Amino acid sequence: MPLFDHHIHSKRSDGTVSLEDRAKTAVALRPHGVSDHYPWPTGMQDDDDVLRYLDDAARLGLRVGIEYDLGVAPPLPRSTHDGLDYVIGSVHELTLDGKRLGYDLAGAHLKGRTAPPYSEALRFADPELQRRVLEAHLVLVREGILETGIDIVGHPTMSPLAALSDPEAGYPVDWQERLIALCVAHGVAIEINEAYRVPHRAFLERAHARGARFSVGSDSHFALVSLDRTEAMIREAGVASAPFLGGRRTQEGVSSATSS
Ligand SMILES: [Zn+2]
Ligand SMILES: [Zn+2]
Repeated sequence: MPLFDHHIHSKRSDGTVSLEDRAKTAVALRPHGVSDHYPWPTGMQDDDDVLRYLDDAARLGLRVGIEYDLGVAPPLPRSTHDGLDYVIGSVHELTLDGKRLGYDLAGAHLKGRTAPPYSEALRFADPELQRRVLEAHLVLVREGILETGIDIVGHPTMSPLAALSDPEAGYPVDWQERLIALCVAHGVAIEINEAYRVPHRAFLERAHARGARFSVGSDSHFALVSLDRTEAMIREAGVASAPFLGGRRTQEGVSSATSS
């Protein structure tokens, strides 16, 4: 059984492919769902919008998730959360001293969309700023798990600290262990993200040693991208025998990468 790809965007947020065409590739190419951004300026803004999207995508036979923008998204009713097959919670920005600190440039760097060096490297070299980013990031993930009930932490270590240099240096081991412990305690899956190539190998090894479950996400916005790098990350970190989410949040949805 091939790995289920949970993290895919459509025209309902910043993707260029319709839900109809996503439904076709889910049948013809490989198993995947859709997970559009919530909220999105030209897309879902409130509960009604999410319900309409859920309805439209489910009618096409798709597994339906959302990418819930942690710290930004308006809360959803429990019934809407439960109606979705899964909720991915991702951090894309923080608020420090009332100011927005975006992850956009770091993300573009990690995706290889901008030429090195990373343009914000000097700013984020400040240890005090690093400490505050780490704490604020973890606060958002914790809220997502405890209050929103997310099922998957999307690109868990995508931030300016991953863009700086060696993620093993950017993320202190005890911070990694805190994030992993939160996920393990609540049965939340750690996403292996193809686009950003996170988390790094040592993080995946630690998470596996603690009994974490994982989820695969190509983060496709245009044509469906391959999971080649994800498969290599799984192989190199030796996590293939771990439980992987199989398209819905329930226990029955969990399979192992080795069964593929
Ligand atoms: Zn994202
Ligand atoms: Zn995404």
